[in-house]
Amino acid sequence: MVYFKSKLNIRNLLKRLIIAIDGPAASGKSTTAKLVAERLGYLHVDTGAMYRAFTLKVLQQGIDIQNTASIARLVPQTTVRLFHNSGKSSVLLDGVDVSEDIRRPKVTKAVSAVSSIAEVRALMVREQQAMGRKGGIVLEGRDIGTVVFPKADVKIFMIAEAHERARRRSKELAERGTNVSLDELEKEIVDRDKKDTSRTLSPLRQAKDAIVLDTTTLSVEEQVEFIVAKVMEKMR
Ligand code: C5P
Repeated sequence: MVYFKSKLNIRNLLKRLIIAIDGPAASGKSTTAKLVAERLGYLHVDTGAMYRAFTLKVLQQGIDIQNTASIARLVPQTTVRLFHNSGKSSVLLDGVDVSEDIRRPKVTKAVSAVSSIAEVRALMVREQQAMGRKGGIVLEGRDIGTVVFPKADVKIFMIAEAHERARRRSKELAERGTNVSLDELEKEIVDRDKKDTSRTLSPLRQAKDAIVLDTTTLSVEEQVEFIVAKVMEKMR
């Protein structure tokens, strides 16, 4: 009896789950998702990085971000891939590593408009579903638990007060050598959330079965522990 019980537990622990983490801008998704994936030995997929990479191409080609038709025409000529090597993940746009360039403020300003286009979303969702099909993956973004993997095993919706999110983003940017005022950052974050929440296609919203995690006063370690505990509960 005991033998069977432990065998079942091991089998459960070997399950390769799909973990969906959604939430507004700068709520701590990327840092947390990366560490959760490391703890579980899973793949980490930053879907925002994929939308940013496509937006970078639109800007590089000098296309107006309101020109939906021209942007849609760019989709069949574009590949956006995530490349994982020794714990580091990079974003490849048409085979070129653009991991640094996609974090530039001009990309951040344009990304919500480009992400609201149906053809762009279809390309990204297809790619994300292909990566997650076998499980063992932590995906973070805006529509993972609602559209990309509506049957994900664990769904987390991460939130934090806008001021705290601006403070964290400011620290992150300063580490990259970019200084932007807190007020400006908070305004950009609130504005981007508004666009992402109000768009018609796959708007940012909490899935009905998602667990809300307010990170305003939590440390990164606490966030990671919380999610890993939920995953373990699910495995049991
Ligand atoms: O996560 P990050 O802030 O880098 O995402 C950049 C933008 O990409 C978001 O503001 C949103 O417009 C878009 N996005 C999306 N769907 C996702 C992930 C990101 O529309 N799953």
